[in-house]
Amino acid sequence: MHLPEFDNRFTRELPGDPVTGTQRRQVHNACYSLVDPSKVSAPSLISYSSEVADLFDWQDSDCESQKFLNAMSGNELLEGMQSYSMCYGGHQFGNWAGQLGDGRAINLGEALNSKGEHWVLQLKGAGETPYSRTADGLAVLRSSVREYLCSEAMYHLGVPTTRALSLVTTGEQVMRDMLYDGRPEYEPGAIVCRVAPSFIRFGNFQIFASRKEYAELKQLTDFTIRHHFPELNDEHTPASKSSYSAFFQRVCELTATMIVDWMRVGFVHGVMNTDNMSILGLTIDYGPYGWLDNYDPEWTPNTTDAGQKRYRYSQQPNIALWNLYQLANALYPLIEDAKPLEEALAHFQSQYQQQSQAMMAAKLGLSKFQDSDQTLFSDLESVLTAVETDMTIFYRALASEQLSYESLKSAWYEPESHNDEFKQSVKVWLERYSKRLEQEPRPAAERCNAMNLVNPKYIFRNYLAQQAIDKATAGDHSMINELLELYRRPYEEQAEFGHYAEKRPDWAKSKVGCSMLSCSS
Ligand code: AMP
Ligand code: MG
Repeated sequence: MHLPEFDNRFTRELPGDPVTGTQRRQVHNACYSLVDPSKVSAPSLISYSSEVADLFDWQDSDCESQKFLNAMSGNELLEGMQSYSMCYGGHQFGNWAGQLGDGRAINLGEALNSKGEHWVLQLKGAGETPYSRTADGLAVLRSSVREYLCSEAMYHLGVPTTRALSLVTTGEQVMRDMLYDGRPEYEPGAIVCRVAPSFIRFGNFQIFASRKEYAELKQLTDFTIRHHFPELNDEHTPASKSSYSAFFQRVCELTATMIVDWMRVGFVHGVMNTDNMSILGLTIDYGPYGWLDNYDPEWTPNTTDAGQKRYRYSQQPNIALWNLYQLANALYPLIEDAKPLEEALAHFQSQYQQQSQAMMAAKLGLSKFQDSDQTLFSDLESVLTAVETDMTIFYRALASEQLSYESLKSAWYEPESHNDEFKQSVKVWLERYSKRLEQEPRPAAERCNAMNLVNPKYIFRNYLAQQAIDKATAGDHSMINELLELYRRPYEEQAEFGHYAEKRPDWAKSKVGCSMLSCSS
């Protein structure tokens, strides 16, 4: 097996916990604790992503080797790897929760590939760490399939995200109370190897600020800028207040872009706690996330959040802003001036608005947003919410040169229930939309092609995830690999996979895993 060079900057340049072992503890003045993955009894490779393997210059023969399986199951560290868990805190559902940390994530180090890029490998579900609190550090097949496939689907949809290299089962049985209803069951244990340039979160900065460990806060911030935002050090004096302000502004911009992409494809993260916000603006920590089937801005897949619906689809931009406020508070001790932070937060709002308008315009095939389009968008929202409408199918159906109520039929869940008033409202909206399209300089066919590049044909529908999981639990992994293949080209028609573009079947409407998920993973 080809062994990449490891250049472990995070552990080499940042302060670590002097204590080793998995004893649960509060870890002060440190960015990480060294910890080894637990050994597992009967690891088995279920799937790997060849595109992610390519980042490490690994061929199929590498990924199919025993050494790869040993490494991705936590049974062996490759030469040069150094395993550790990160210390971070976070606001969970709006409340400061103190130290959280990688409770079941173990980083293996930073591989330096032939292109000179650093990629961190991280096992999720590889056993206890000092941050596991009362839990076991493990992950089950159900949640691992969801993380593995969704990471890769998001990547190919063009949404910034952490990646997934491999999915293995461990041979261990793991006890989970899936719905927190007092009925725990054994489930197959699994491990996903995640990959990103960095897994640093808002919470890594927050934990130092909350403990007034300002020297470490500065070290972590300087490290992040040096390695992940080096352009800022070209424009600003390194380690200056202006470089910290510029850094925060970049995080605001990256976060805005990520949320716009979530809204574009109908993704609901489900647990936007500050410990689940990547400093690089990547979608991170795939837990009880979901995808809108019928367009419902008030929907959240997370039953743990069913009461408040804090993290529902329509709230995601506001929550991102709230989370950025918390990051601003954490960085304040380095800047000691609220003004640039407030300006960056205002910048987030204007950036979000601008990008979101451009995104909506693109979804409708308008080459440029005009102020008057705002009412076209809001009236469309009324049409989409008046009856159950499949968001994904609707936008694909809209990319047509012949639009009518009939041409959109495939997007509706119960067309037989539509009254004349609704049909009339669709007609009125389509007439306005057609009028607006007359101002478009592009030929219709070109516009439709452009629409199909921002409106996916295939999303990782909740019921498809559940079907893949049910099959995998029964020992059949074929659907995982089929979906992995499908999501490589989510904007293409791929006629052979047409059945994966269908709207949610009735049986999935209230089934656990399809519309209801919890944080128990
Ligand atoms: P999450 O809501 O999944 O982002 O997790 C919140 C915190 O709980 C993080 O510190 C996780 O590492 C930790 N955590 C979640 N599940 C487990 C588990 N099974 N074992 C140990 N820690 C966990
Ligand atoms: Mg998390």
